[in-house]
Amino acid sequence: MATASSPHFVLFPFMSQGHTIPLLYLARFLRQRLVNLTIFSTPANSPEIRTPLPDTDISIINLPFPKDIAGLPPGVENTDKLPSLSSFLEFANATKFIQPHFEEALEKLQHVSCIISDSFLPWTEESAAKLCIPRLVFNGINNFSMTMYYIIAQEQPNAQVCSDDETFLIQNFPNLNLTVNDIEPPVCELGSKSALIDFVAKQAIAMSKGRGLIVNSFYELEQSFNDYWNQKFGPRAWCVGPLCLGKPKKSQTLQKPTWVEWLDEKLAMQQAVLYVAFGTQADISLEQLHEIALGLEQSKVSFMWVPRSRHQDFPDRFEERVKDRGLIVKEWVDQMEILQHDSIQGFLSHCGWNSVLESICASVPILALPLIAEQHLNARLVVEVIGVGLRISPSNGSVRGFVKSEEVEKMVKELMHGEKGAEARKKVEEVGVAASRATEEGGSSWCTLNQLIEEVCRKDV
Ligand code: UDP
Repeated sequence: MATASSPHFVLFPFMSQGHTIPLLYLARFLRQRLVNLTIFSTPANSPEIRTPLPDTDISIINLPFPKDIAGLPPGVENTDKLPSLSSFLEFANATKFIQPHFEEALEKLQHVSCIISDSFLPWTEESAAKLCIPRLVFNGINNFSMTMYYIIAQEQPNAQVCSDDETFLIQNFPNLNLTVNDIEPPVCELGSKSALIDFVAKQAIAMSKGRGLIVNSFYELEQSFNDYWNQKFGPRAWCVGPLCLGKPKKSQTLQKPTWVEWLDEKLAMQQAVLYVAFGTQADISLEQLHEIALGLEQSKVSFMWVPRSRHQDFPDRFEERVKDRGLIVKEWVDQMEILQHDSIQGFLSHCGWNSVLESICASVPILALPLIAEQHLNARLVVEVIGVGLRISPSNGSVRGFVKSEEVEKMVKELMHGEKGAEARKKVEEVGVAASRATEEGGSSWCTLNQLIEEVCRKDV
């Protein structure tokens, strides 16, 4: 049982699912170590916090959020949760208005050992400094992407390329070829002035003043990139994941959702199923959505597709034509539960980092179709570095190009039935075992988290 003398951590997740969910799983790992926890949030985000955290001994403090944020699309002015990626900047900048409320509430808390807050809340560094509390930054991205961004910003290995699709080498990582199109915000903008670059700079400065970075990854997965970051850049990146392994186990008595029953049937018929999902934030053009749908149809593979509400405008009669082997679920599902189902033999994914880790932990090979942000880098990591997936290549050869249905069909078949798919499956099984080991007692992430708690609680640093 945690006592008043146990360490007390404050957690402040960013108000989007992809950033909130992993931090809540970290909360569970911290509770296992008897750390007292207070989680800061905003009213609309609060249910997202309580649901995956059944533990009642965690306090949640909701802070008031500004009502009118200039630049948000009509109809979402009053939301205090990221409405969509297109309003990211306006929303992230508006979070600064809650700083005074955060500091007032923080001052009332007893003996806070450290604050772990999202890198998208850079002003929390100022609050931590004012109250002399160490801050650790939760970084939703992996060691590989962090390291590549910093190498490109500081060493400019792309200086000589003539086009955004020409590959360049990264010194010290000779097997890696990147293009400008793998990076977002675009490399060419990094030295220029724009609101986004200003925000990225603020984030980087705040991060450099922090005590370290919490990285949702495990050492064995990204050893060379984690070592490189810690030796060359810093502050120290602590790999304490995969955090999805902190997810609470589901009670067996609960009624099975209909899609789990559908997957059970497919398993009984020995039909391998491809899971299709593109995360919560990225947008897909209607034309691209139709090409993906047609590719899935032509592949004749069984699939379960969970499209977000804005991606449900399928080609005419598509749902009817595929109804015997394609299930489309138009609501929020438990993605990890799906990935862990024995019928799932592949994941067509946008390569959001949480999705990648969840797939690895479930030993499911990935078919990468990255869309935005660092997803292009994640796809390189998945396919070229770790070898746990294949990639659908755009028709014009650019990593950001349009993907045709024939390519979707070919790669879906390859992942599910081909030789390269079999190799990726074998590899993901090995990596999945290593992921579990890392979070078990004595594993690398287990020991790193213990060391981190000990270090932030030491009074002499
Ligand atoms: N997710 C889920 N059910 C859904 C959609 C998404 O559980 O219906 C979860 C998914 O398991 C993952 C997160 O939402 O943990 C999405 O994060 P990711 O980094 O993959 O993508 P993002 O949404 O940030 O692009």
